[in-house]
Amino acid sequence: MRYVLDMPAMFFSCNHVIYQFCMENFMGKKRCVACGALFQARPQVPNQSYCSASTCQRERKREWQRRKLHTDPDHRENKARAQQAWRERNPEYWREYRDVRLLAGLTLSD
Ligand SMILES: [Zn+2]
Repeated sequence: MRYVLDMPAMFFSCNHVIYQFCMENFMGKKRCVACGALFQARPQVPNQSYCSASTCQRERKREWQRRKLHTDPDHRENKARAQQAWRERNPEYWREYRDVRLLAGLTLSD
């Protein structure tokens, strides 16, 4: 870490060009890619790039989903299939629900 401290001052005003040597990284701090705020990275989360603000976490999730849809055709297909399956299943579900109620109503009135 002596090495980092001996670096010229320009490396301490980090713009992540030389990320692994930057002071923010040395202090365990990172800059949120969504809001640009410095945050304390958690050691348990390598490559953490979003702060804990709820808006940034939503952004992270959106980005993950966007990337997932973009890079994983299986995921896209699964999602479409699941939605289709639900739509196909759903009318039947409600029809049965109604029928059961009607049947129950008739049985009760008898
Ligand atoms: Zn943020």
